[in-house]
Amino acid sequence: MLEAPEIRRTASAMRTALVGRPTIRFDSPSLEGPAPRPGRLVERIDARGRELDVTWDDGLILHTTVRRGGTWHLYRMGERWRRPQREVNVTVESDDWVAVCFNASTVETFRTGVDSRHPSMGRIGPDITDVRSNLSLVVDAMVSHRDPSARVRDVLLDPRVVRNVGNVVASEALWATRLSPWARIGDLPRSDAIMLVNTAARSLRSRLSTRVLDGEVVEDLEVYGRNGQGCSRCGDTIEERRFSSDGRFVYYCPGCQTRLDHRLLDDTPVMDPHPAAAKFLADLDADD
Ligand SMILES: [Zn+2]
Repeated sequence: MLEAPEIRRTASAMRTALVGRPTIRFDSPSLEGPAPRPGRLVERIDARGRELDVTWDDGLILHTTVRRGGTWHLYRMGERWRRPQREVNVTVESDDWVAVCFNASTVETFRTGVDSRHPSMGRIGPDITDVRSNLSLVVDAMVSHRDPSARVRDVLLDPRVVRNVGNVVASEALWATRLSPWARIGDLPRSDAIMLVNTAARSLRSRLSTRVLDGEVVEDLEVYGRNGQGCSRCGDTIEERRFSSDGRFVYYCPGCQTRLDHRLLDDTPVMDPHPAAAKFLADLDADD
């Protein structure tokens, strides 16, 4: 049976079409669990065998398993689907693509990550997607953060500081400001906090407005999901690391995102080590 390779191929196409873009519409009549909120950015697509997962940048994960004969397809908006409507279990729409799951046996969602840690504890920060929000309140909350050792990246994802910044936009804003993902909030000058918040707001609002700009992609991703590829600013190889605080991936350039670097030993490198680091480790082994 060819289901698994087809799902893998579709997953790869879905990464190109959907990751970093807002989900405009989601439909699944048989869904168990919360539905993704419109406007959230797709963060990851993962496929294993007959399973395919979609992760949004607020930590919501859609988990699907397809029966024999079931699969996922990706279509251009308006393109004719190659399977009948009665077999459809899930549709995920972006500006100009729709991913469709046919003949699923499992369709469920669950939450992970930072947003679920403190759903409504204490006050809630301004919504970065709302043009009426006072972003200087976000800057104030960052520079007066009660835990100076907290990482800037985690603070950006904390809804008590600012709402609706997800993993994609956090990675991109850190790259744009050349800040290390391991920078600590206590080391962050106010000027950098301003730059970071403005960059995140601009990036997110331009992504959300792609729909009204005729589906044209306003901005491409510089680091998110680009591990193993060259950095457009310095040419170094972009890396992917799992963050210990929430288990989610951060993408960054080790060549030019070095400002305020304060890496802790508990952030163990996983997945793809930097080629130079891999060679270094291999050389060490050879000396034994
Ligand atoms: Zn770089």
